[in-house]
Amino acid sequence: MKEEKIELIKDGKRLSGRGFEELRPIKIDVGVLKRADGSCYFELGNNKALAAVYGPREMHPRHFQNAKMAVVKYRYNMAPFSVDDRKRPGPDRRSQEISMVSRKALDPVILRELYPKTAIEVYVEVLQSDAGTRTAGINAASVALADAGIPMKDLVSSVAIGKIDGEVVLDLDAKEDNFGEADMPVAMIARTNTITLLQMDGRLKKEEFERGLKIAMTGCRKIYELQRAALVEKYSKSGNEE
Ligand code: UDP
Repeated sequence: MKEEKIELIKDGKRLSGRGFEELRPIKIDVGVLKRADGSCYFELGNNKALAAVYGPREMHPRHFQNAKMAVVKYRYNMAPFSVDDRKRPGPDRRSQEISMVSRKALDPVILRELYPKTAIEVYVEVLQSDAGTRTAGINAASVALADAGIPMKDLVSSVAIGKIDGEVVLDLDAKEDNFGEADMPVAMIARTNTITLLQMDGRLKKEEFERGLKIAMTGCRKIYELQRAALVEKYSKSGNEE
């Protein structure tokens, strides 16, 4: 969030032409990687993310095993070429934090107790970023977990809301994120309205927060339908191509 100001809303429209409660275009492809147990390519506007899932498989090193349930490992990585100013390769504080909160967003739906002593590994690679990459990653990971056949209670869906030029809007792009007043990523189990991630950068008034959360939840429900449709499409194809 920059101090400098630019006009983000003109004539009641956002710079991209989107309405205040409009998501960016979404594209979901399931099972795109041959060597992963499950995978998903997820586009959210100009964000492009790929998720690969391996497991459940025996956890190594063994002292990290949990005798009662599987351990979920989540690695979010932003490719150096995914942003305007080349990002230094490798983990940093931001990617570690995003990995942790994303894992926590998915943990509640995974039936981990069915696979004691194992690891379920989730790798998210952001190939192109335009704000909202953690939400795109969670959406991709959730579908990839289902594609891997990991028993889950449900999918998790995620999107951010934010505040730009005093208005609460859905799904900020990078310009809106940079020059806006607040950014609040949310993840939820759409069918039960269970929030599994909620972060906030910037400030919102109580009523803005409440309205934003409502808008984010509606956005998550739309994404949930698209995630489901992508899975149904893949698994209803005869022969499954492989
Ligand atoms: N960003 C960047 N370089 C970085 C980190 C982030 O250019 O090292 C950009 C990128 O477009 C990213 C956006 O800033 O999507 C917002 O980043 P944030 O940390 O809010 O996470 P995100 O919204 O991607 O989940």
